[in-house]
Amino acid sequence: MNMITALIDGEIVSTGQAPIPIVDPATDLLIAELPEADDATVDRAVSAARRSFDEGVWRTMPVDKRQAVLRRCADLIDAATDSLADIECGNTGLPLAQIRGRSIPRAADNFRFFADYIGQSTGELYEQNPDYLTLVRREAIGVAALISPWNSPLALGSMKIASTIAFGNSCVLKPSEQAPLAISQLVALLGEAGLPYGVVNLVNGRGATTGDRLIRNPDVDVVTFTGGTPTGRLIMRTAGELLKPATVELGGKSANIVFDDADFEQAVDGALLGIFTNNGQQCLAGSRILVQRGIADRFIEAFVDRARRIRIGDPRDPATEIGPLVSARHMQHVLSFAPQAGEEGVSLLTGGRRAVGFDKGCYVEPTLVRAESNDARVCQEEIFGPFAALVVFDTDEEAYRIANASRFGLVSYVWSQSLARIMEAQERIAAGIVWCNTPMMRELRAPFGGWKESGVGADGGRACENFYTRQKTVTIPRRPLTLRKIGV
Ligand code: NAD
Repeated sequence: MNMITALIDGEIVSTGQAPIPIVDPATDLLIAELPEADDATVDRAVSAARRSFDEGVWRTMPVDKRQAVLRRCADLIDAATDSLADIECGNTGLPLAQIRGRSIPRAADNFRFFADYIGQSTGELYEQNPDYLTLVRREAIGVAALISPWNSPLALGSMKIASTIAFGNSCVLKPSEQAPLAISQLVALLGEAGLPYGVVNLVNGRGATTGDRLIRNPDVDVVTFTGGTPTGRLIMRTAGELLKPATVELGGKSANIVFDDADFEQAVDGALLGIFTNNGQQCLAGSRILVQRGIADRFIEAFVDRARRIRIGDPRDPATEIGPLVSARHMQHVLSFAPQAGEEGVSLLTGGRRAVGFDKGCYVEPTLVRAESNDARVCQEEIFGPFAALVVFDTDEEAYRIANASRFGLVSYVWSQSLARIMEAQERIAAGIVWCNTPMMRELRAPFGGWKESGVGADGGRACENFYTRQKTVTIPRRPLTLRKIGV
């Protein structure tokens, strides 16, 4: 595997400074030392993007040709499934089966989706004034800095690239320094799709150095970031100071409300998937499970029984349902939320410790704790692991109050067989996405974005079109005008 410090104008740069150690979280072995892109390399990457945008080969390419290139990107990703999945698995510990079944198809679909989308976009036309036609066109916005996290590098990095370039922009992606390997290979692959040089560039490095340099470069026009809320705040501050538009997709502590009239089996299945998919490391995890008192004991019993049967193990084993967390540091963070003996208000129902039977690797048991109050730390902070907190409620009003008592507002889940209850819930919950009787259905046409401290802006067809293009209003008289003459 090539060490990719940067990819600029289609060329791989493998030299740099401050090597970043990359460890396989399943074996604790060092698998790579990736030199970080220094300031000069970041600036070169941005210059390449700027030049390609200003020259305009990509942004002025007929849409059907641009669509064909985007579709070839998707085909190349599909064809590289085996190698991309292997690298992603070794770098992140995500189960190979989930990478193959979810992340890589999603990465390819991101390109196909935006290829289709641009074939149907339209401008606006105003002709109410009989003397004029006013049309509103959208033009590509320029050079985008894309900053992505480690928890689903292929799916999230590819979404950023596809949604940016589809509208004619050029970009520089900086993946997470914790999981850069597979997404760097994916970017290298795209060169074969027929993208003009400089449209997609990449720099690898840490956030405070490479990332900060990237967003501050004056040739960067817009910034898009997915990651933690504290970093998002920092990035919004920098972007604001420099007057660069920015979208930030941040953390969550999403409520999963199970009413007493829910389809019980489905609700248990959905709650397990909602918290334990992707090793529990997903922004959209249903990490606060709110259960109505009448079914609470039965729900807890069923959930705990299933959680204990979840197959923890080697992420490459097709039978594995939960692999190791991304790093030893992150594992310690997750375990720090396990209630201590004698702790009041939070009780451990299952898990809460390193998985037994592993002499290496960052394996954590699927965990459920019960909190007496939603004010508990386990209900208020994003844990970002296979760790759910459960709160019992009595009335629907109480469920909404608890669900909304959070600084986050990314997604939510609600389970009930009553249409009236579902309709009420989807109105009352303060979150960007409400999944009713289903977990994690991602509709790319619709916006995906958090409320409150879960983000500013959204991904999705029209949301991305709005962000990655700027409007231009053009007014043309319909017939020769008789202009008022001054200075005669
Ligand atoms: P993070 O905030 O630590 O890092 C994200 C990215 O930002 C990395 O590439 C990092 O290098 C970069 N970065 C850090 N400091 C920077 C700076 N000063 N300037 C520029 N770039 C900087 O997040 P993470 O730990 O990689 O990811 C986990 C977080 O991401 C969780 O909070 C999760 O909820 C969130 N997330 C949100 C979504 C969403 O769509 N809302 C999706 C996935 C993950």
